Amino acid sequence: MTRDENRTGNIYSKEGRGGSKFWVDIRAIAEGIRQWRFDIAGFVGYERAVVTAGGVDCDEVVAKTLESRLVPSLFFCGEVLDLDADTGGYNLHIAFATGRLAGRNACQRALKPRKM
Ligand SMILES: Cc1cc2nc3c(=O)[nH]c(=O)nc-3n(C[C@H](O)[C@H](O)[C@H](O)COP(=O)(O)OP(=O)(O)OC[C@H]3O[C@@H](n4cnc5c(N)ncnc54)[C@H](O)[C@@H]3O)c2cc1C
Repeated sequence: MTRDENRTGNIYSKEGRGGSKFWVDIRAIAEGIRQWRFDIAGFVGYERAVVTAGGVDCDEVVAKTLESRLVPSLFFCGEVLDLDADTGGYNLHIAFATGRLAGRNACQRALKPRKM
């Protein structure tokens, strides 16, 4: 998705099939998700409730900095990313390693903002 500079607000566009194109308002989606309420139908129990699958698509994040490709100066780490592994320390490693990388780069960006 790319930000549509011709439109005001947080409008992003994406090419669809057959040359079609669609636009979405990221803020409206975020607000919709925030307001979303649902009943949990079931779960597999505490023993297996270890890590969340899904999250921010890794293709939409710069691997070397963990900065969003969609929203400049927004960094992601840990389980927020669509990364998960079997138990055995791998998920903790993901959390620590991505936390360090995202934190360092967010700090650098705060000290030296990118010219727009
Ligand atoms: C029971 C259990 C056992 C596990 N065992 C293992 C294991 O053996 N080996 C392994 O590698 N991994 C294990 N994991 C997974 C591992 O612990 C997690 O993947 C890792 O801790 C994720 O780190 P995180 O920082 O991404 O998220 P979290 O540790 O979930 O941290 C997110 C933090 O954000 C806070 N937060 C949430 N919303 C807000 C908000 N709106 N504002 C401010 N703060 C907010 C939360 O309170 C929380 O402190 C286990 C997990 C569980 C639940």
